[in-house]
Order: sequence, then structure tokens, then C-alpha cells
Amino acid sequence: MGRASKAVLTLAGKFGWRVNGSAVAGMIDGYWFCACQAKPGAAVIVSTAISGLKTLEYRNLAQEIEAATENYSLLDMRNAGNSLEFTIRGTGKSDDAAIRAEKLINDLVSKFKKMGMPSGCSFCDAEGFHAFYRVGEEIINICPECASRVSIELKAMDGQGAEQGSYYMGIMGALLGALIGSLIWLGISQLGFYASIVGYFMAFLSYKGYKLLGGRIGSYTPAIIIASVFLGVLIAQIADTALELIQYVETGFSMPLFGFSFILAIRGFFDNELFNVGKIWLNLGLGLLFAFLGSYRMVSGIRKETSRKQLNIEKLP
Ligand SMILES: [Zn+2]
Repeated sequence: MGRASKAVLTLAGKFGWRVNGSAVAGMIDGYWFCACQAKPGAAVIVSTAISGLKTLEYRNLAQEIEAATENYSLLDMRNAGNSLEFTIRGTGKSDDAAIRAEKLINDLVSKFKKMGMPSGCSFCDAEGFHAFYRVGEEIINICPECASRVSIELKAMDGQGAEQGSYYMGIMGALLGALIGSLIWLGISQLGFYASIVGYFMAFLSYKGYKLLGGRIGSYTPAIIIASVFLGVLIAQIADTALELIQYVETGFSMPLFGFSFILAIRGFFDNELFNVGKIWLNLGLGLLFAFLGSYRMVSGIRKETSRKQLNIEKLP
């Protein structure tokens, strides 16, 4: 949540309104208004709602406001149901932007009065001011009925999201995906090529496995993928050393021998007498570097998927 700009703070000071986050809101002669500005110089958004704002009345109002557009440097005006939103140019001195918004709000109040239209709930036809709620960056007036209906709907939406998939299955899938990557690593290494580059694709394989087994997409997802990829690279490197050991003793491949060699191969990270420790660490480092490069884009993609702006409705004190 951003901080209120100087322009909207000036406006709040003039009208005696409250400040909440980047928005200010309050009453004038029984009409509620909210003003917000994302950052200094950005457009100032003024919003309100009028009970029973019928198409015809909106047209009359829109015509009158449009006739005086230059008084407020009005950029845009729109309505949805009973809600009205005005966009004012916010460039120049913050005091000027505040004066433009003040002019618009005062004119709106006198026009609303002249048309005999009462202030209203942002969602339904209920008249008057009820209570201010923060919805995203905006502050709006919502009647008690709409407030309880909206919060029930939002809770239902949250519940749906929470039940999709499980972290347990996700971990299984991510590990399986990474292990498939390890096998490809070994295959390429056996063919005599640099296998570390497989690290780059491991995050992709791991995430594929995660989704295939129905992993839950949530804030733990990137950590699970990264841990699986790290394990995948580590296992691939150790297994690679184990295969080299088996080839060295020239007894042919068997699973028990592979198991034994795998345990022995862990010594490859520190036992200078049996192994080429430097080469093993270099391969592991390269694999992890490629894995990091491959994971980076994947993880930022997952982050975007999970950090969808959470809809929230909060009653202001
Ligand atoms: Zn309502």
C-alpha cells in the first residue's frame, strides 16, 4: 500500500478528510468521496457513488461536467452502476492538482443536490453513507448488506484456491522431475559430453513433475522446486562419479555395485587420494550455476502466478 501524495493530503486538509494508505476519503454535505494518486504527478482519481444514478441522469451529469472539463483538467469520467470515477491530470504543482480536485468535488456536490440525487452504496441502490471500506487502493462506501455479501464471496474464492492441489504430491512430482533430469545428466555424461548444462533444464523438468502430480501452486512452490533441483544436481554428480568408479574397476555394472560405489563416490567431494576432487567440485559448481540460471526465470514466473493481487475488503475504523 502506497503513501498518500502531497496533492491528496492537501485535499484532505481542506475538507477535513481521513487518510488511509495512498487514498483520502470523507464527506461533504452528506456526499462521500475518495481521492487517490498513485504517485506525485500521476493522475488523481476521484470516486463516489450516487443512489439511483439512472442512465439518463448520468448523461445529464456527464454533459454538464464535460462542458467544464478544462476547469478540472479532467482526463476521463466513467460510471459503473451507481459508482462514478473521475480522472484528473495530476502533473504540475501538488497544490494545483488539489485545487482542480477540490473544484470538481464542489461542483459535483452542487450538481448532485440540484438533481436531487442522494449519496449511495458503491454496489447497490442503498441511499446514504454507511461505512468506508478499503478495497485495493481505493476507499468506497458500502452498505452493511453488500459488505457481508462481498466478504462471503471473497472467502468462498479464497477457499477454492486453498483446496487446489497438495504440497505433498508437489514435492513427489518435483523430485521425480529432477531425478529424470539426473538420468539425462548421466546419459549425456556417459556419451562423453559436459553434462552440467542439464542443470539448466532441471528446473523445468522439476516444475513439470510438480504440476503433473497435482502440486499446489503457492508461496512454498519456488522453494520446493529449488530444493529438488539442488538435490537432482547433487545426486547426478555423485552418481556420475560412481559410474566412473565402476568403469575403473572393470567388473561390469550391477545394482549392488552401483549402490556401493554411490556411497563411496560421496568421498569424491573431499578424498584427494582416490578422486579428482577439484574436477568433481567444478562439475557440481557448473551444474548448480546452470541450474540457477534455469531456475531463475522459472521461479520468477511462479512468483507472478502466486502473487496475483489478493482481493481484500477491510472496514476502516
Ligand atoms: Zn449496498
